[in-house]
Amino acid sequence: MSENYLLVGNGCAAMECAKSLRENGYTGNIYLLSDLLEPAYNPMLITYFASGKIEYDAMFPYGSNMDFYTRYNILPYLGSPVINLDAKEQFVENSKGLIIQYDKALIATGSSPIIPPAFSNVVDYVYTLRTIEDGVKFRKLLRGPKKRVLVVGASMVGIKAVEALVENDFEVCLVDFAKYIFPMIAHKNCSLLIQEILRSKNVKLRFGTAVERVEKDKNNLVTYFTDEGSAEEVDCIVVCAGVRPNISFLDPDQVDIDHGILVNQYMETNVPGLYAAGDVSQGDDLISGEKRIIGLWANARYQGRTAGANMAGKKTKYLGTLPHNITHFMEHDFIGVGNILNGDDMYEEYDEDNYTYCCFVWDKKKLIGVNILNMPEISGILKNYIIKGLLTDSADGLSKFANDSLALAKLYNKYPRLEKKFLEMR
Ligand SMILES: Cc1cc2nc3c(=O)[nH]c(=O)nc-3n(C[C@H](O)[C@H](O)[C@H](O)COP(=O)(O)OP(=O)(O)OC[C@H]3O[C@@H](n4cnc5c(N)ncnc54)[C@H](O)[C@@H]3O)c2cc1C
Repeated sequence: MSENYLLVGNGCAAMECAKSLRENGYTGNIYLLSDLLEPAYNPMLITYFASGKIEYDAMFPYGSNMDFYTRYNILPYLGSPVINLDAKEQFVENSKGLIIQYDKALIATGSSPIIPPAFSNVVDYVYTLRTIEDGVKFRKLLRGPKKRVLVVGASMVGIKAVEALVENDFEVCLVDFAKYIFPMIAHKNCSLLIQEILRSKNVKLRFGTAVERVEKDKNNLVTYFTDEGSAEEVDCIVVCAGVRPNISFLDPDQVDIDHGILVNQYMETNVPGLYAAGDVSQGDDLISGEKRIIGLWANARYQGRTAGANMAGKKTKYLGTLPHNITHFMEHDFIGVGNILNGDDMYEEYDEDNYTYCCFVWDKKKLIGVNILNMPEISGILKNYIIKGLLTDSADGLSKFANDSLALAKLYNKYPRLEKKFLEMR
């Protein structure tokens, strides 16, 4: 009798799992359940769609129709969220009452934006950036009358929102509880340069404070902050203040959950036959050695592929990844890799006038973190390293980069002190 494998979710982690299942010889049924009606889309493209840089169809990397599902013989049940997954009895149920029994299942439901309680009374004026619907709504905002907007969260998503708003002549204030922009991935000196770039585009910055409450008067949203500073009057709010994994349909007595679903290097959960991948899962962080949610596209794809291979019976490990962000914003390039905050040695070069910066951080002579702002000589090469997966496949990826003379020769010419430092650290 044919086996039933089930994918919950319809993002890149689920797509890669389906591909990998078939490529590794699985011929049984693949059911796929998704809350949305559309085919798999790429959430990181929605701000590009909203600001008119790409067309609607370009948001769907696996095709904007159902051909992919046909090619891989996937049975899709779209437009209804899974509301219950019983890991013991091995069945799922969606909101329409459909129940499917499974032999093996992958949970790949991604995450959703967190809307802090301070905004609960003004949700009609709040924008988030995750779903296609969010993208369509944001696009309408950008194309409508120019407004005053508060962006909450100086994250990678936050800066894309700010960029789109600024490009469309909106008045923007960016607020974050952290003292500097990109607090998790950027060195303070790099953050200060990025902040200068934003200020030069007339973005008002309020760091080290949070929105305490919002009151609606006739024409304004009046936002009050936790610090002594004055209230901001705005027309709407874009919330980019973090995400939460979509796991409400799971029973935590059955499935081990920390921040996300805990998985090993085979993408297995604690329950035999149940796997998790992508933003919903908490796998290995190569830098800290801890389990951590690393919500990145490439990571979700690798994890999905690994889950698929293992579900098909081909034992395959995914060692994990490390935090890395490659962001192009307002004609500037920022790359942040690894851990910039906790090393025992560092090297940095910066030029305040030209907004260029690089910083390398070592711990016990091992390179653990890199920041690069506007250094095309090195950004391209580092970007390639990341994209090729060197960093994601090996804990030594960053050190390999540090030892690649081709990669660094150009930088050494410009910054002889850096060569000395790298030699010292070998
Ligand atoms: C604005 C933005 C910018 C980003 N920029 C970058 C970037 O520059 N670089 C980078 O690497 N990453 C970036 N990311 C992150 C990247 O998009 C994610 O890491 C990646 O999409 C995760 O894939 P996934 O398959 O795990 O989850 P998702 O793509 O979120 O897919 C999850 C799927 O599950 C479905 N689902 C949810 N709940 C249920 C349910 N109960 N039942 C059924 N289906 C459900 C969802 O509708 C969705 O189809 C960005 C994300 C955003 C939002």
